Amino acid sequence: MISVRNLKKSFKGQEVLKGIDLDIAPGEVLAIIGPSGSGKTTLLRCLNLLEQPSGGQISVGEIHIDADKPLKAQQGLIRQLRQHVGFVFQNFNLFPHRTALENVIEGPVQVKKEPRHQALERGRALLAKVGLSDKEDAYPKRLSGGQQQRVAIARALAMQPDVILFDEPTSALDPELVGEVLSTIRGLADEKRTMIIVTHEMSFARDVADRAIFIDEGMIVEQGDARQLLKAPQHERTQQFLSKFI
Ligand code: ADP
Repeated sequence: MISVRNLKKSFKGQEVLKGIDLDIAPGEVLAIIGPSGSGKTTLLRCLNLLEQPSGGQISVGEIHIDADKPLKAQQGLIRQLRQHVGFVFQNFNLFPHRTALENVIEGPVQVKKEPRHQALERGRALLAKVGLSDKEDAYPKRLSGGQQQRVAIARALAMQPDVILFDEPTSALDPELVGEVLSTIRGLADEKRTMIIVTHEMSFARDVADRAIFIDEGMIVEQGDARQLLKAPQHERTQQFLSKFI
């Protein structure tokens, strides 16, 4: 579903991603773990070109982007790729002046040019799926963080993406709201949706992810079966990192 080769990213001469290779099969859930500043968010943002990679190749399904060549000439492909890749942000990023339902239908109507009645019907079903039928007309500021994040998940699903990227989806939430968002994501994993999740929730990663990768200083240090990696990491740096969560 996704294939990444030698992905690199520098910010003002500082190399933040140092050549990442990654493959994700359809239906697979991948957890990305690693210390703060190791490049996890940058990797996720490069995957859907929210951030311009400095080099490397990214393929999503049949769409291939080559960041070793000028990206200006690949804008059409980049737009297509974004339609296939959903993104759920740490801070929800909902449109503040739109209701929950309007947030969910924005992409399908504006980007995909779906008929409004069709987008509304699916939007309502998606809000029901994330347990927010009664909040269709609520504005984000009237919603808790957990509710806002569930709207953001419904909004990502509304684009019918092939893969959804989650950037620390619970890190901005009060502890008592984390569970409702994690159980929504768990439900998507049960449906065999392809997902990549950057998270510090280690027990969630162990339970929900098929595979995990540990990133440090812009490189994949270790990867493997999520349970195995989280229970019995092989690399010393992974061991050190995980020991802080026990
Ligand atoms: P993580 O998600 O693992 O905490 P990030 O991907 O956010 O790590 O950041 C990796 C490194 O890249 C950090 O040193 C950070 O300061 C730097 N960085 C991230 N985004 C930018 C940016 N827009 N401009 C400059 N430096 C950045």
